[in-house]
Parts: sequence; structure tokens; C-alpha cells
Amino acid sequence: MFRNLALWARHHLRLKTERDSVVPTAFDPSPIVEDKQLSPDERALLVWLIEHGTSDATEYAAQVEQARVVGRCRCGCPTIDLGIAGAKERTVGGSTILADFLGETPEGFHVGVLLHSRNGKLSELEVYSLDRDGIFSLPTIESLKPLEG
Ligand SMILES: [Zn+2]
Repeated sequence: MFRNLALWARHHLRLKTERDSVVPTAFDPSPIVEDKQLSPDERALLVWLIEHGTSDATEYAAQVEQARVVGRCRCGCPTIDLGIAGAKERTVGGSTILADFLGETPEGFHVGVLLHSRNGKLSELEVYSLDRDGIFSLPTIESLKPLEG
């Protein structure tokens, strides 16, 4: 399902090791807790992913207006946790993938984008780099294409 399984696993398991260093880099895996409205870019991407995602995705369209950002990854990627209808806690565990796309950010990073739902609610907008580490933004909507395979 995930072509770049190693990158995906590294992001999720937060296994941050340095090839050239004997001492692994300390990495805080906990998300930054937030309670914010979606930015215009986050909202636009969410709406687009729901419109172009799996056949189940459109059932979640009404939740966009109820969604707030309740967490943010600290690794430099723009991954956000979503809270729906006043939920303040991010949801974790097994998820249903509502959309799975590849894209490019304004900084030129090639990224994968996943929209997760958990327990029937929009849960996480995940963006992971395919080519390098660093700080990067959401992909542009014009760059998005489906992950084939
Ligand atoms: Zn991250």
C-alpha cells in the first residue's frame, strides 16, 4: 500500500538515527499540542483530498467545518492532528485512509499526503517527505496526483 514504506515507517515510528553518528539523535516523538483553526491552505487541502479521495471520503465533507488543529508534528513536516466538533485530543491507533496522494511543496520537496480517519472522524492530515529531511510546507494542490500501485 505504501510505496515508500521505509519513509513512512520512519515518520511513524519516529526512528531518527544518524548514519554518521554513533549516538542516535534524541527526538521528541510527541506532537505539539495546539488548538487552532485550520489555516486557509490546510482547509483547502483537506477539502480537495475529501473530494478526490476514496469513495468513503465524501461522507466526511461535513466535518471540515467542525475541524480544528489539535496537534502538530515537531519534525519539520506540516502533519497536523484534527479534532472534530470540539474534540481537543488527537486520536491515535489504526486508521482508515481516505486519501493517498503524491505532491510537491513550494520548497520543492516531493511528498506523500495521507488523510486519516479514526473512529468515524477526520483524524490526521499527514505529509511525509519522499526525498529528504527538513522543514517544508503543504504540497500545492496543483501538484497532487494519485499514488498508483
Ligand atoms: Zn513530522
